[in-house]
Amino acid sequence: MSAPLPQFRLAAPRTVTEAVAAYRDHPGSRFIAGGTDLLVNMRRGIGNPTYLVDLSGIDELAEIRITDDGVTIGAGVTIAALAQNDVIVARYRALAQAAAAIAGPGHRTMGTVGGNLCLDTRCIYYNQSEWWRSANAYCLKNRGDSCHVAPQGQRCHAAFCGDVAPALLALGAEIDISGTRGTRRIFLSQLYVEDGKAHLALADGELVTAVHLPPDPPASAYAKIRTRAAIDFPLAGVAVALETSGADIVSLRLALTGTNSRPFLLAGTEAFAGRCIDDKLLNEVDRLVQKQVQPMRTTITSANYRRVAAAALARRLITTLGTAGAA
Ligand SMILES: Cc1cc2nc3c(=O)[nH]c(=O)nc-3n(C[C@H](O)[C@H](O)[C@H](O)COP(=O)(O)OP(=O)(O)OC[C@H]3O[C@@H](n4cnc5c(N)ncnc54)[C@H](O)[C@@H]3O)c2cc1C
Ligand code: SF4
Repeated sequence: MSAPLPQFRLAAPRTVTEAVAAYRDHPGSRFIAGGTDLLVNMRRGIGNPTYLVDLSGIDELAEIRITDDGVTIGAGVTIAALAQNDVIVARYRALAQAAAAIAGPGHRTMGTVGGNLCLDTRCIYYNQSEWWRSANAYCLKNRGDSCHVAPQGQRCHAAFCGDVAPALLALGAEIDISGTRGTRRIFLSQLYVEDGKAHLALADGELVTAVHLPPDPPASAYAKIRTRAAIDFPLAGVAVALETSGADIVSLRLALTGTNSRPFLLAGTEAFAGRCIDDKLLNEVDRLVQKQVQPMRTTITSANYRRVAAAALARRLITTLGTAGAA
C-alpha cells in the first residue's frame, strides 16, 4: 500500500540555467520531469526530498531537432513524442520500438527521455512500501545495512530497467550534461556505473539536457521480455544495430538492459565484422551475452531465465535484421 505524498516545495524554472541554480540553492533537492518514477518512490517513502526542481516547463529541453549532423533529442521530450516521431520511427527503429514498449499510454504521455535515462534501479526488496521495507529491516540501497539478494556482498545489485538506454547505446548516442560547473558531452555509456545504489556518473546537481544521435544509422531493433505484456519493465531487453554488405556483417552493436545495474554495450562484437550470420555466429553471440549479463534474484523471475532469455532475444533480433538486410 502506498502512503500519501510527503510535503515538498516545488521550483518551476523556465531555463536550464534557472534549474541548475534552483537545485544549487536548495541542498538535497531532486529534479523531477514526468514524475512517473520519482513520485512512485516518494509515495513509498524512498528519498523524501523536501524540494523538487520541475524540468517540465523548460522549452529548450522539449525539442527533437533533425539536421544533417544527426538528431538531437531534448531530455524533456516525452516518451510518447519520441515513439511517434516520423524520423525516429523510420530511421532509428530500435529507439521508437523501445519507447513504444515503455509502461502504459499514460506513463508515456508524462514520462520523458531524461527521466528514463536516469531511472532509479529496481529490486523486489526495494520497490515496496515503507511498512514492507521496515518489516524486512530495509536493505543496503536505502536505510539498511545488508543486501537480501547477496547478503555476503557489500554492493547493491538492483537492476537498471529503462528501455530507451540500450537502443541509444546500440545507436552510438552521446549526451549533454549541465551543472554548476558548466556543460559537458559524454558517450551515453559513460553515464552508467555497475552499482545498483549509485548507478549514475552525475555530480550532485547535474542534469542530462540532450541526447545526440549520429546521422545515417544502421538498421536496428529492440525487444524485451516482461511479466505483463501490456505494461511492465523489462526483465531483459536487447537492442541491436546491424550494418551489412550483402551477406557480410559490416558492424554489429548490441546493448542490454534489465539484467545488470547499468545498461551496457556487449563487448567483443567488433570481431564479427566480415562474418556472415549463421548458426556458428549466433552461438558465439549467445555465449557472449550469457557471459556478460549478471542477473541476480532482484525480480520474481529467476536470474537464469533472464540470462537465457537475453541471449535468445539477441539471436532473434540479429536473425531478423540480417534477413531483412539480405532481402
Ligand atoms: C507501472 C509502471 C510501469 C513502468 N514501466 C516501464 C517500462 O516498461 N520501461 C521503462 O523504461 N520505464 C517504465 N516505467 C518508469 C517510467 O514511467 C519511465 O521510465 C519514464 O520514462 C520516466 O521518466 P519521468 O520523466 O517520468 O521520470 P521522473 O520520475 O521525473 O524521474 C526519474 C528519475 O530521473 C531523474 N531525472 C529526471 N529527468 C532528469 C534529467 N533530465 N537529468 C537528470 N536526472 C533526471 C529524477 O530526479 C528521478 O530520479 C514504469 C513506471 C510505472 C509506474
Ligand atoms: S539488490 Fe540488495 S541492496 Fe540492492 S535493492 Fe535489492 S536487496 Fe537492496
